[in-house]
Amino acid sequence: MKVKIDADVCTGCGLCADNCPDVFVLENDLAKVKVDPVPASAEECARQAVQDCPVSAISEE
Ligand code: SF4
Repeated sequence: MKVKIDADVCTGCGLCADNCPDVFVLENDLAKVKVDPVPASAEECARQAVQDCPVSAISEE
């Protein structure tokens, strides 16, 4: 799987990076995806991050 972050929507709350640090990192107060594609071992937390993002800035591709 791949995940993408809409930088225009992300508020930099840090939730995704806290809960799934193998996939997301905060840089300059915006979340970034640091692995592409997401390794199988991190897919579960990446999918959870898609659901948990308070502004729906993360999408699965
Ligand atoms: S959870 Fe959503 S709003 Fe918060 S840092 Fe991650 S992508 Fe941005």
